[in-house]
Amino acid sequence: MQVELVEASATASGPEREGESVWPDGDPHPLVVEQNGELLRVYYVPVVQKDGDTEYAPDMSDDHVESIRRQMWAAFPAKDVELVIGEDYVPTYLISDNNAWSNLLNEMVNLRSDPDRGVEPDQYVYGVFSQSVACSGCPAGLSYLAYSDNADYSRASIGYDSISAATMVHEVGHAHGREHSPCGGAAGPDPNYPHEGAIIGVRGYDLLSDVLFEPDTVYDFMSYCWPAWSSDYTWEALFQRIKGVNALYNAAPSNARLANTALRPLFVSADGEMSWGEPLRGELSPMGLSTPVELIDELGLPMGVLDAVFVPYDHLPGGMIVMPDPGAGRVRVAGRLSPAL
Ligand SMILES: [Zn+2]
Repeated sequence: MQVELVEASATASGPEREGESVWPDGDPHPLVVEQNGELLRVYYVPVVQKDGDTEYAPDMSDDHVESIRRQMWAAFPAKDVELVIGEDYVPTYLISDNNAWSNLLNEMVNLRSDPDRGVEPDQYVYGVFSQSVACSGCPAGLSYLAYSDNADYSRASIGYDSISAATMVHEVGHAHGREHSPCGGAAGPDPNYPHEGAIIGVRGYDLLSDVLFEPDTVYDFMSYCWPAWSSDYTWEALFQRIKGVNALYNAAPSNARLANTALRPLFVSADGEMSWGEPLRGELSPMGLSTPVELIDELGLPMGVLDAVFVPYDHLPGGMIVMPDPGAGRVRVAGRLSPAL
């Protein structure tokens, strides 16, 4: 860094002494980078809907996918964004209502346990699908809220392909534990958001389009207001999460990568219907919403209590209750009996 004072116009007057308008006058000062960014890894799943012989596939053209990857990179404080394209996923239903949305998101959580897929614990699963199937009153994207670095079971989101760059940034933001910023009627706004009306609060810069955003006319991308960019608050939180996830799984492969507690999610769909998910390897989030679960025997009698955490959907009622794998039987949560495992 070096600063030089120059005359504002040809008609400006005043003394000028050689060498004194530059600081420092020798070599420039180095600008030290305080911390380097790290890698953000996404496992991108094309979800292909089938209606008889008609197939609705998302746009997976190289240009479209690369454009999404680059926009993710511009919006997240990551050194790079890696997009691994998974094999097609074909749901047994059309995504035509909110319950189908929640079921698809749960199936993306199950993909994490599929050995043929080989999803790594630090990867964010993102299911992308075509908007060609009508869906009234449906969200544009859906995600789990991952409350902590080690909550790999909640790193799952879905969204339409056509509007996926902005949607994906917002949804993967939720999967980084970001709640809504308070603008546009977004549900469950983060009470700690520091700038009124969810403005970004500081200048932002989009290095893809070379556009500078003013602090008070642009809104945080975790809100529902537009135009949107990252606030300093969201940027810092995302930076810490990316760093935490990398430290957990990549810097020291001997620790959490090998966490082998068997966990089991009990999904509660948008309609309130309960279903068991595939067993997961991982650790219960220390920051999840603690939810005691009663183990019930064949006669319907309580056998004990399990520690569990509730992980909500961002844009629909419901979510999942993650607990140590009970192996068999039923559980009771908030007075409701689960199906048999
Ligand atoms: Zn949201």
